[in-house]
Amino acid sequence: MTLTSTTHSHNADRALSLVRRVDAFIGGDFVPARSGKRFDCVSPRDGKVVAQIAECDAADVDAAVVSARTAFEDGRWSRLHPRQRRATLQHLARLVEEHREELALLEALDMGKPVTDAIDVDMRVVVQTLDFYAEAIDKLYDEVAPTDHRTLATITREPLGVVGAVVPWNFPLMLTVWKLGPALAMGNSVVVKPAEQSSLTALRFAELAREAGLPDGVLNIVPGFGETAGAAIGLHRDVDAVSFTGSGPVGRHFLRYSADSNIKQVSLELGGKSPQIVMGDAPDVEQVADSIASGIFFNQGQICSAGSRLIVHRSRRDELLEAVVRRAKALTPADPLDPGTTLGAMVEEKHLQQVLGYVDDAVNQGAVAVTGGSRALVETGGAYMEPTVLEGATRDSVVAQQEIFGPVLVVLPFDTVEEAVEIANGTPFGLAASVWTQDLSTAHLTAREIRAGTVWVNCYDASDVTVPFGGYGESGIGRDKSLHALDKYSQLKTTWIQL
Ligand code: NAP
Ligand code: MG
Repeated sequence: MTLTSTTHSHNADRALSLVRRVDAFIGGDFVPARSGKRFDCVSPRDGKVVAQIAECDAADVDAAVVSARTAFEDGRWSRLHPRQRRATLQHLARLVEEHREELALLEALDMGKPVTDAIDVDMRVVVQTLDFYAEAIDKLYDEVAPTDHRTLATITREPLGVVGAVVPWNFPLMLTVWKLGPALAMGNSVVVKPAEQSSLTALRFAELAREAGLPDGVLNIVPGFGETAGAAIGLHRDVDAVSFTGSGPVGRHFLRYSADSNIKQVSLELGGKSPQIVMGDAPDVEQVADSIASGIFFNQGQICSAGSRLIVHRSRRDELLEAVVRRAKALTPADPLDPGTTLGAMVEEKHLQQVLGYVDDAVNQGAVAVTGGSRALVETGGAYMEPTVLEGATRDSVVAQQEIFGPVLVVLPFDTVEEAVEIANGTPFGLAASVWTQDLSTAHLTAREIRAGTVWVNCYDASDVTVPFGGYGESGIGRDKSLHALDKYSQLKTTWIQL
């Protein structure tokens, strides 16, 4: 299947024809919600309903947990030789690769990201992630502690059991697989709740997992709402861990759910307000501007690591602002299903209104939208927004402190390196940051001072499955990706043997 030779209206027909799996996936079968309820799946490209998805609640979550627990306890996956788990996950990676265009079309239709990005970024990362954990899992050794001559003490990793994964809509399948890769490789069973805005790819992925030979019950997908299905996972007494990616307020709910139930392990990947710092000696302005613009506008700004604060040395402000604004103006939103589109639709009308509300409030308080600030393509019925650059907001203002989760860049000038670091660290978040400088010492010293899980030097959003990703402070607890992610899905056992 090739996207380039087709028009986007043809892609729209194709995407719609691919919407086939709309039921929950429990115990290896696609089943409706026990209540019979369904909710509308709306495409933000035109505001139209494209499917009716099973609306799972606590009863369905319980059925999924029972099936996951049964699978875990009888060892059909958890006790396989790691080589066998490797082979199944690699088979799954190949199936995703084969179906990447189909999955990308579903993703673009469902939540509005450009289909080309969905292929080149999301599906590429899904495949890499599955391969990485598959290839790793039969090469990991456990430990023997240094003890006296009459003792043997081993430190072994064991899977946790049943893992709940609750995920957001911005990189629906990719973030799901950041969790599934290590969780499944380790031998756990998993219950996934996709975001209500984006259930389609998780359901199709489950079908591919079954085809790859993942045993029934090991992977379960319960689409539905956070307040019902999500809370039921958080509160379930037979779920051993929850791996959550999403907003700060909901992350706090999961800590409470854990406290109110069985003290399940909770890992949280939350939001950010990531700074892109441009020092006075930063390299060529056009190169920097490319990175600043994609750092904030990629995925319509709906990225936890969006570089939403441009912290720029006053001596470089004018030229850089001009170059970034030029790029923002050139980036016009268009149909996510058109392979030529680089800026798609916002996930939904409600979210678009929230983002526009942030901009309006800032402007009412004296900030200036140097470019953008309005919705676009109204005639389509879709949720499109112009890339926006805000000047004149103070570092403590709402738009400079809160995660907007949209294509909105706030410009904050500085005079000294100390001041730049102070502004950068001046939010409760700490997910990511970048520093632009040609001086090696400034680069290293600033990177050390910044409280963030990832610091990029002279680039932005560069990444790979081999490095951990997660946040300091209110950006979360724990890390996804790399071998460190296995920590979230395993227990350490000490076995002390007297010889
Ligand atoms: P969200 O509103 O927190 O939703 C995330 C998930 O939690 C969804 O599946 C949602 O269900 C569910 N949920 C909502 N309320 C719940 C409740 N009361 N109990 C249990 N579950 C509940 O976040 P979002 O708007 O989808 O995604 C945007 C956020 O994700 C941003 O803050 C962004 O920074 C963050 N994010 C972080 C990372 C990272 O790695 N650090 C990556 C991507 C995104 P529904 O289906 O009902 O929405
Ligand atoms: Mg949708």
